[in-house]
Amino acid sequence: MPRKSRSTSSASDSDASTKGPLKKARVDNNGKSRSRSSTPTVSEWPEYFRKLEATHRAINTLYTFLSARKHIAPLFQTLKVAVEAQAKKEFTLKDAAAIKFLLPNNVRFDYVDENDLKVYEERVGSGPTLGKDAANDIFKINESDHIRNSQLLLVFEFVEEDLKKSIPKAQSDEGNWKPKGRDLIKMPTYSTANMSKLIGKRNNRFAEATNKFLASCTATGLCPELVILSELESYVPNQPPQIRHSPERDLKTVPYPPLVPRERQSIPEIVDGLTSEDGYQGQIVENGARVFQAQAPRFGDLEFLISQELADALYTANNVTKFYTHQAMALNDIQNGKHVIVATSTSSGKSLIYQVPILRALEQDSDATAIYIFPTKALAQDQKRSLQNILKLMPSLSNIVVDTYDGDTPKEERQRIREEASIIFTNPDMLHVTILPSIDNWRPFFRNLKYVVVDELHVYNGLFGSHVAFIMRRLRRLCASVGNDSVQFISCSATIANPLEHMSKIFGVDDVKVIDDDGSPAGEKHFLVWNCAYKDLNEPSLGRKDAISEATQMLVRLTCNGVRTIAFCRVRTMCELLMKAVRQELISIQREEMIDRVMSYRGGYTPQDRRRIEKDMFEGQLLGIVATNALELGVDIGSLDAVLIVGFPFSIANLRQQSGRAGRRNKDSLTVLIGDAHPIDQYFMQNPTELFEQPYADVLLDLENLLVLESHLQCAAYELPIHIETDEKFFGQSLRDLTLSRLVREQVNSVNSLEVYTCHPRFLPMPSRCVNIRDIDEETYAVVDITNGRNVVVEEIEATRTSFTLYEGAIYIHQGRPYIVRDFNPDSKIAKIERTNVDWTTTQRDFVDVDAVEIHAMKPITTSTGNLSDTHGHHVIQYAYFGDIKVTMAVFGYFKKDAKGRIIDAVDVTTTPPVILYTKGFWIDVPDRALALLRDKNLHIAGAIHAAQHMIITMTSSVVMSTGFDIRTECKAPEKEFASRETARKRPARLTFYDARGANTGHDSQRVSQWGSGMSRKVFEFLEVVLRKAINRIERCRCAYGCPECVAAANCKESSIVLSKVGAVVILKAIMDEDIDPDMIPEGPEGNLPQNKKFVETIIPVEGIVKMANDVEIIGVSEVSRNKDDLFTVKVESGSQSSNPFVVE
Ligand SMILES: [Zn+2]
Ligand SMILES: [Zn+2]
Repeated sequence: MPRKSRSTSSASDSDASTKGPLKKARVDNNGKSRSRSSTPTVSEWPEYFRKLEATHRAINTLYTFLSARKHIAPLFQTLKVAVEAQAKKEFTLKDAAAIKFLLPNNVRFDYVDENDLKVYEERVGSGPTLGKDAANDIFKINESDHIRNSQLLLVFEFVEEDLKKSIPKAQSDEGNWKPKGRDLIKMPTYSTANMSKLIGKRNNRFAEATNKFLASCTATGLCPELVILSELESYVPNQPPQIRHSPERDLKTVPYPPLVPRERQSIPEIVDGLTSEDGYQGQIVENGARVFQAQAPRFGDLEFLISQELADALYTANNVTKFYTHQAMALNDIQNGKHVIVATSTSSGKSLIYQVPILRALEQDSDATAIYIFPTKALAQDQKRSLQNILKLMPSLSNIVVDTYDGDTPKEERQRIREEASIIFTNPDMLHVTILPSIDNWRPFFRNLKYVVVDELHVYNGLFGSHVAFIMRRLRRLCASVGNDSVQFISCSATIANPLEHMSKIFGVDDVKVIDDDGSPAGEKHFLVWNCAYKDLNEPSLGRKDAISEATQMLVRLTCNGVRTIAFCRVRTMCELLMKAVRQELISIQREEMIDRVMSYRGGYTPQDRRRIEKDMFEGQLLGIVATNALELGVDIGSLDAVLIVGFPFSIANLRQQSGRAGRRNKDSLTVLIGDAHPIDQYFMQNPTELFEQPYADVLLDLENLLVLESHLQCAAYELPIHIETDEKFFGQSLRDLTLSRLVREQVNSVNSLEVYTCHPRFLPMPSRCVNIRDIDEETYAVVDITNGRNVVVEEIEATRTSFTLYEGAIYIHQGRPYIVRDFNPDSKIAKIERTNVDWTTTQRDFVDVDAVEIHAMKPITTSTGNLSDTHGHHVIQYAYFGDIKVTMAVFGYFKKDAKGRIIDAVDVTTTPPVILYTKGFWIDVPDRALALLRDKNLHIAGAIHAAQHMIITMTSSVVMSTGFDIRTECKAPEKEFASRETARKRPARLTFYDARGANTGHDSQRVSQWGSGMSRKVFEFLEVVLRKAINRIERCRCAYGCPECVAAANCKESSIVLSKVGAVVILKAIMDEDIDPDMIPEGPEGNLPQNKKFVETIIPVEGIVKMANDVEIIGVSEVSRNKDDLFTVKVESGSQSSNPFVVE
């Protein structure tokens, strides 16, 4: 917006700061540094520099005022016109280049794609039909593909720091853990005083730089003007900058060899390189480096003989001549009829343990059969290939058929496979939905079933594990029904604390042997705990660089050095941002040929794309992968040299699993955990020893979950009617009650008077289709690339994720390439994206409201004292409620941020409707007594609610198996809770929790009963146990203001910043009707929250009552009566929690 005004009329002096609209902010040019007597003043400078100084001053002032209005693109041309019109100064390309020369790090003077500077206008017209060009895929996008004649614009801008943002400062005092958190996002507030200060600062900086330059010229005897003029050329940007190299980057200093070396360096050499570099500031934290010694191989002997043919085949296929100790022990135990679980390292040769018994069984009996069960298809394919390779080498088994039987197997193939295959590869889902229910077709196979191989047994935990455990019982029961009682189970698992218990529970068997003495060789393993460097080493208060930039440097460095590396990111967006940064870095170091050797890989990509990436990694085409989750990856990506973990991956178990992806038998390997700004990360940066020394976690399985048990009982009854006495050994003691109450007794056959039960008609025609064993199906949105009319679905995204990634104008990143979201339609569930070339990203400004909408069940909370009415006879029962929950996720705008994370614009979004989901959940209103106390003590109420909610979610793990994401709550955002401006968005004083899985947009009332995952219902029933444990945990935690051990949750959507530990105790104790001594409660504000600031109150007392369903169930109340003083009392059933564990509608 150039000002073309009265340029000719006024001809006063040249100081821009005295003119026109700029008058108000007269700038004091006598900055501090200039008043020092030792340095020359501007008037003592050569004329060229005096003129340049005046130009700089004029630009500086104008620039600052222009950018203080809503974002105005800092175009060179705009500035030139303005400076020349207002300040009567010439502003040439050479002037700009000279300023850039003097202040290389503080000025950006370059061509920029126009898309960097503005969001496109909406493109008109709708694209062709979806999926038409589906053969195109992400690999076919050329770098130049997207460019629709986009213009390049010359930009001149100052890039030092933003205008001072007013960020509440957290007081740092005692307490071993202080949340640092991310910067609070806030639009810069430009006050006149701030602007004046900034202008003065920039002028001073210019003067200092010039003085320094002049001094260096004096020292070397050169003429400063000649020097600067001779250098200018290279500071004037060339158009078009197809590949832009920042001029100050000296490629000779980049620590990468020009070509990827054939042999990589050793890990110690690589670590040396990392730590001896210029940029190294001691990022490896104290006690954060560990080396795990290399292991030599150890061998054992078989107690039985294998055939020469098998021995030869093993040798030819895999070069096996001897067995490692664990292989020999496992094979011996299997030979002796035991069930075996092998818990050794990833590449310790587990396939051999599966193959040898099966092949031997087939040698002895060609009718023998076996099943391999894998949690994912990718893993199954690797094993199938390996088995087939050996079979090919055994002529006596040439007629043996090995086949995959899964959801992708064509219907017409299935019968042939059932009849011909000796070995099938499948997954638990297929077993559950298809194989077991069609037992009639499988009888011969089951009769001859010798071995069931279940790989990755640790994966079967939590709710999924419970389902799989009952599927295995159904399998054993059906085998028994055809007279086969001798099926043996062979499993492998990652290192867990309780392999024996886990194996026994999954299969319901006793005779289990654990093999964990790993005899395979292992290379040396290096582990580094790496904190991000400070932005400015001399100014730690400015905070640290972000983990992405740190990870980018490291990933580029490793891959360019030929180190096969995988980088794990916590979430998908991070994955894509890292990928994008890596591409940019590779371009800037002129290693474009490396761009195709690093790929991102994550959930949501199409299976074809994933297989392709796996294959390329395996074959060495790729040197780096950026991924979200270790489990999504197939085994066959080959062995890796290094794992970068970008941000603590929510649990130590995840961390170890990810780290386990690196390492070859005889080669050393490296794992680096890069800590980001998240408080949890910083906690582990300070306590790295916990990462290494915390014991392995128990894998927990909940076989008491009656909801799950009943589901499988219905399935089992469909497969073969239930006979209580016979079937108790498979399903345990709850079988009788459940059978009698939930199943249907079959007409007694006059010939056979057995009393049997079949499944309830509600589950017909196919019970297994009613029982979803993995995450409840979630609605997905298709992300469609419409670039150049392409119309290809590139991803599918779950509804719960969409709202914060897909909104019109958002920058969506796929394979590290930016796309702009053109259209987001919640009705058709389609988001259209188009390639763009922008440099900025978007951060949404959003909120999530979690609201209770209908009560289905309620119960009085059994307090610690057991009293439900107080001594004054008041009715003080605290109820907990269970029912329908509405989750509203809305993006109301976004910030555009530049590559350095600085906000360049705030955009309001009005076109994207909120995503609304319905699910089940429970809630408790915060007692008035607690609210009064919190207010009295000046404690942060939202923080107290948030902390109490976190603590309750953490403790739910004592009653249900949850992954930490299964039950969620409304997290409190610092942007809102630390605001001082009044807001219309008030939230009820209520602790609210909901099932994340099974949430649905559900307009369809039929589906209401299926909302949710069942978890919050179970927690609701055991709420008192959870509340009690929550109080204990907080009170025992020795931290000052909350830590990851208590109220700071690692997966908090709002980074666990708004927390009041002491407030949480007040709320929880009030709910449990415990005594609270006001004198023992410290006065607020809490030390972890911003001090000396008045926050606006966002919490209001609950008013009215949530709507009741027609048939509200009241739990745990057996008697309502009046006592002799005519007081109303409610008697609570003892042990009420277990009396009615769930209700089927
Ligand atoms: Zn704590
Ligand atoms: Zn939270």
